[in-house]
Order: sequence, then structure tokens, then C-alpha cells
Amino acid sequence: MRQNVVSIVKGPQGPAEQEIDSMVRRAIELVGGLSGIAGPGDTVLIKPNLILAKSPDTGAVTDPRVCKSVANLVKELGARPIIAESSAVGIDTEQAFQVAGYDRLRGEGYEVIDLKKEETVTVPLPKGKSLKEVSFPRVVVEAKAIISVPSMKTHDQPPVTLSLKNMKGVLPDTFKRKFHTTFGIFQGVADLCTAFKPALAVVDGIIAMEGLGPIFGEPVEMDLIIAGRDPVAVDAVTATIMGVEPGEDGTISAATKSRIGISDLSKLQLVGEPIANVQRRFKLAVEAIYETVPLPKGFELLLAEKACTGCRNTVLSVLVDLKEQNQLDRAAGWCVIAGKIDKVPEVERDYLLLAGNCTARFKRRGVFVPGCPPNNRDIAGGILREEQEARWA
Ligand code: SF4
Repeated sequence: MRQNVVSIVKGPQGPAEQEIDSMVRRAIELVGGLSGIAGPGDTVLIKPNLILAKSPDTGAVTDPRVCKSVANLVKELGARPIIAESSAVGIDTEQAFQVAGYDRLRGEGYEVIDLKKEETVTVPLPKGKSLKEVSFPRVVVEAKAIISVPSMKTHDQPPVTLSLKNMKGVLPDTFKRKFHTTFGIFQGVADLCTAFKPALAVVDGIIAMEGLGPIFGEPVEMDLIIAGRDPVAVDAVTATIMGVEPGEDGTISAATKSRIGISDLSKLQLVGEPIANVQRRFKLAVEAIYETVPLPKGFELLLAEKACTGCRNTVLSVLVDLKEQNQLDRAAGWCVIAGKIDKVPEVERDYLLLAGNCTARFKRRGVFVPGCPPNNRDIAGGILREEQEARWA
């Protein structure tokens, strides 16, 4: 089976577990099944996206029923499936498993592991451009194959997060941070894939997420499974379904330039449902922020390009919380900065909030909230001028 085949399978509205199983099986069969990916006795790592503790009906995380179906296919080969995740920096993966329903899979005999608890080994990445070596959980390194099973979501940076970006979730937290501060997230993910490219990508598009993804967006029922052996091609097709040009997405572009796979749709063979039948323009994160949180007069939010999801979403969650508490007006006039920056704007010290350790070099210029990522409560406390919670430098 050629690498450049991508399947799109549309299911019934609100598919039940058995229907999801049929969709996943058909999508994988259409791209050649699992033949050649693994055999009897091999270990296959199945990597969902469980960025934090949310249920699959929010669109934020991969539906466990999709992973279960993939795991069953792996078992049918005589191989050993391991469903493995390391949630976002500072998030308890076990709690994410519990809330998303992965505990139930454990109860049914499936192996579900928290990668944050696994032993790590350092692996060289000779073909990496920004990343020359990486620290990986041993279980990932020793797996015969990785199957990336992301949820279909918008993201406030790339602007979509799919099977390629999902690979960042196998890293230990210390390395995840360096992706934002040192390596650059887009090239960092492409470099990871030079050595650990998923052998198969299966996108869970049952309930997707649009708007303020990857966490605070709105669920969108798509009832889709998209699969293929080239994760770049799968992401390019899925992005197109979402109304995003593959070339506009930083991760897909970097992976294409690093020759991880093909994102040019004219060079792909699409099977199953035609794109036009399932396409829906997703609201992007950048379009949604001002609708979700009507920012008060004079409020300015400066998120450095390399600010990671931890800081970005902490700051956004503070704004959402302040709105819910009818306190948003108190953010008027504030300038909030997160991520590594070269200079700070000319803002009165009392109205400049520097969120996270990456802004520490400017900590004397305003209200500095340490942490990596910083605590929501401390940022809110800074804006609300609760001195006991936000520390003055
Ligand atoms: S301070 Fe924020 S932007 Fe900097 S590494 Fe930590 S989480 Fe990422």
C-alpha cells in the first residue's frame, strides 16, 4: 500500500461504540490495514491526545473508543498495544485518563500508561535541524511502531493540532518546555518525527474542537475518522477539511520541509468520503478570543511566538475566569506578557504583568508572576492586585 493514501470515513450522527469501531476499521483498511506495521510479539504504542482532564464530548481529547478500536486491531496482529500519554506540562495524566474514560479501558484489560512515570533514555536525532538529541520514555523508543491518534482541533499557535503535533505529548515535561523556549515548536516536532515518525495516523474527528483550541474551544460534531500512513498527508487532509490551508500550519509546513511526508493534496490519493462532502470551516483560535472574552478597554495581551501552551492557556483561562466572575473590567489598562520576549513595551509598572519564568529578566519592570507555567490564581491575583497572591519583584 502506498504511503500517500489518506482515507476519510463519515459515520452516523453521534456514533455508538460499535459504529465507531466500524468507522476506525474501515478507515484503516482503506489505507492498507496494519500489515507491515507490526507483527506477532511486537509492541505498538498508541498515542491519544489527552492534553488535560476533559471528557471527549468537549472535543479537547481523543475518544477512548477510537483508541480501543485501534488497540483491538493491533491485538488481532498478535502484537501488544500500549495506550500511552503524557499530558501537558503541570497536568496530572492519571486524572486526564480518569476524566476521559481511559480508566474504563484499563478495567477491560487494555494497557494504559502515564509516560510521565516512565524511565527515559537519551536518543540522538542526527537528521534533526534544531533538535539533535531528545529524552524519550524507554517504552516509546522500544516500541516497534507508534500510532498517533489525535483529536481534530484548532490551536492558538500552529493553527491546528493533529497527528504530528500530538507527538510532542510523548516527551517528558522538561523537554516539552524546551520546545517553546529553545527548539521552536514547529521544527521541534518535525525533528522528533525524523526518528519517531508515526507509522499510522488515525484522527478522531467524532467530536472535534473549533475556536479557542486546544483547550477552551467549542465542540463540533463531525463524525469523522481520517487515517493514513503518512502523518503529514493525514494532517494536510484534515486541515483542509477544517478550512485551513496546509501551508498555513507551522507544524505541517516544517514537517513537509523536513521531508517527513507529503502535504500537497494533488500528490495524495484520497479514498472514502470526498473532502467536499465533509468540509466545514472551523473558527480559528485567533478569531475566537475576542468573541469568547470581550477584552476590556486598554487591555493588551502579548503572547510571545514561542510561549508554550502552558502559559498561553493559563493566561487565557484567567481571562475566561475573570469574565465568569464579572471581574473582567478590572483588567482594563493592563498589559499581560507571557513567553520569551526581547523587550517590554513602555507600560506603567503598575499595569504590566509578566507571566511565567520566561519573562523573569524583566521582572523589575512590572508585576512578575513566577512559575513554569505560572499559577492561574497568581495571575488573577496580580491583575486584581491581591498582593498576597502575586509577588512584587
Ligand atoms: S514560563 Fe511559560 S512559556 Fe516559558 S517555558 Fe514555562 S510554560 Fe513555557
